[in-house]
Amino acid sequence: MTVVSSSRDLAGSWIDGAPVRTGGATHTVINPATGEPVAEMALASPGDVDRAVGSARAALPGWAGATPAERSAVLAKLATLADEAADTLVAEEVSQTGKPVRLATEFDVPGSVDNIDFFAGAARHLEGKASGEYSGDHTSSIRREAVGVVATITPWNYPLQMAVWKVLPALAAGCSVVIKPAEITPLTTLTLARLAGEAGLPPGVLNVVTGAGADVGTALAGHRDVDMVTFTGSTAVGRKVMAAAAVHGHRTQLELGGKAPFVVFDDADLDAAIQGAVAGSLINTGQDCTAATRAIVAREVYDDFVAGVAEVMGKIVVGDPQDPDTDLGPLITLAHRAKVADMVAGAPGEGGRIVTGGVAPEGPGSFYRPTLIADVSEQSEVYRDEIFGPVLTVRSFTDDDDAIRQANDTAYGLAASAWTRDVYRAQRASREIHAGCVWINDHIPIISEMPHGGFGASGFGKDMSQYSLEEYLSIKHVMSDITGVVDKPWHRTIFTKR
Ligand code: NAD
Repeated sequence: MTVVSSSRDLAGSWIDGAPVRTGGATHTVINPATGEPVAEMALASPGDVDRAVGSARAALPGWAGATPAERSAVLAKLATLADEAADTLVAEEVSQTGKPVRLATEFDVPGSVDNIDFFAGAARHLEGKASGEYSGDHTSSIRREAVGVVATITPWNYPLQMAVWKVLPALAAGCSVVIKPAEITPLTTLTLARLAGEAGLPPGVLNVVTGAGADVGTALAGHRDVDMVTFTGSTAVGRKVMAAAAVHGHRTQLELGGKAPFVVFDDADLDAAIQGAVAGSLINTGQDCTAATRAIVAREVYDDFVAGVAEVMGKIVVGDPQDPDTDLGPLITLAHRAKVADMVAGAPGEGGRIVTGGVAPEGPGSFYRPTLIADVSEQSEVYRDEIFGPVLTVRSFTDDDDAIRQANDTAYGLAASAWTRDVYRAQRASREIHAGCVWINDHIPIISEMPHGGFGASGFGKDMSQYSLEEYLSIKHVMSDITGVVDKPWHRTIFTKR
């Protein structure tokens, strides 16, 4: 394993293949498990955003004009370097997010490396309709061209994975990129950019600007000289980003919030559903857009489900993310914990019953115990709004129609799961639940070959898979006359020859 120096040393933006610290303002990256500082980051100035976009614009023709094989070779090398730098990436991710080292080591970093590797291959697979004489008088062919300069804005929950999901398909398609990570979690995105340079990515093809959403994010999303804006984050901010991009008519892609239903039918393997509900709701301390948040459970098995989940949640080890025995790390900030705690505290007033959790342990760090709220009403805040914490709510349903209705009773549509041994129920749930991903008898797994992306308030467009490559490509139709005829038959629809 190669030891790569941490991006703590870069401590600023990355523009035109080099570190940049021009802005006067700085932001202290805090370890949420301890409250201790991790790095002092220089924030990008408005001039830095312009320079980054200018650098991406200048680098675009060379990268877009490289052959697929040349692009693929750079991305394959990046996958190798990222794999070799796994220890550094894990250490940075754990220190800036507080996620348990087991999750970062077994999910975030290898998942990101696999995704980079996937796009190294995908760069060489551009597909479309066959060239041919569809009109009889012309040869039609399809070109797929890079959209251009892509502005990318990412959240703090999976900093490396979210950066990879956006940057890699864009690079594979031949686009150049300016990415703004969340200001509280910039480290792994900077390391990714540095490794890309070491892998042979030309300067300017991938730039990172560090800073807050209100200024750097707004400047990037509304920048005149980008061609596309792609965003992962909350629904409220996603709509602002879309509005800023719309001023210039730029293409957008939005991956937004979620409120995933977890539907347990009476014939389900209840042990599997209980374990799946705990894993699906607590992943990344519940700070996961696809996390199971609304368990909708058949009346016949409701009490057993609630008791089973409470028992497993009660054994979860909350604590030091660096300890491999830790199951659950802290929430991202004290402010976010206060928001989660407020929402949970409001649940009993709206009919909810806190079965377990609902408490923040004493001491430093923004920890919060796994929380199960049963009997929630359909109108309650914890049932309707994204909590983004280790909180699972439970309601019962009466029959299959009611289960599907409740699953779809949300503005979001990112992910869902159905638990049943009945193949017809499974088929119906996968057909009728309105979400970008429906798992059957599982909840959370993702894979590079398959798309991720939501419907409704969860956004539109896809990350991961060949489908996400499409997001960063424009389709051009080239139609060439093959007759050489001056007096073309269709001209008579416009004028007759006199
Ligand atoms: P957020 O919307 O607050 O911030 C996301 C990014 O947008 C950050 O980089 C932030 O600095 C930036 N930003 C904030 N205001 C901005 C503005 N006005 N203009 C431009 N940029 C701005 O989200 P968050 O709190 O960082 O992340 C959590 C949210 O992300 C949750 O809602 C979660 O569901 C969602 N999420 C969705 C997916 C998905 O694939 N659908 C994946 C991960 C996270």
